[in-house]
Amino acid sequence: MQRPLGDRTEFGRGSPWPYALELCDRLPCPCGGVGHLEAIASGPAVLAEYRRSGGRATSSSTAELAEEARDGDALAREAFSKAGRALGSALGGVANLLSPEVIVLGGGLVEAGDLWWQYLEQRSPKN
Ligand SMILES: [Zn+2]
Repeated sequence: MQRPLGDRTEFGRGSPWPYALELCDRLPCPCGGVGHLEAIASGPAVLAEYRRSGGRATSSSTAELAEEARDGDALAREAFSKAGRALGSALGGVANLLSPEVIVLGGGLVEAGDLWWQYLEQRSPKN
């Protein structure tokens, strides 16, 4: 799946990294560290965030959780939103620093569609 992330001169305006770091602050990362972007912006992190926020533990995968989010589970939607905002903010910082022509994203979260993309694409890190 390919989607444009917008005008790179606009993408990631402001100070995106502090916002991304705020979202993953003190969260345990699968690597054993703490506060890494993966702790909030990966597929397993979406499921973990959902459970931390009090969501039902019936979903065993991010794909199942996406279905619950589409069915109206507000906590599930928020978990996808946080992941998208965190990664979008971080990518904004990367885009500002490196000015890449293309950023390629893969993995299961890409399949979450607008549950995740719309937040990743937001240009203002605080929105
Ligand atoms: Zn890590």
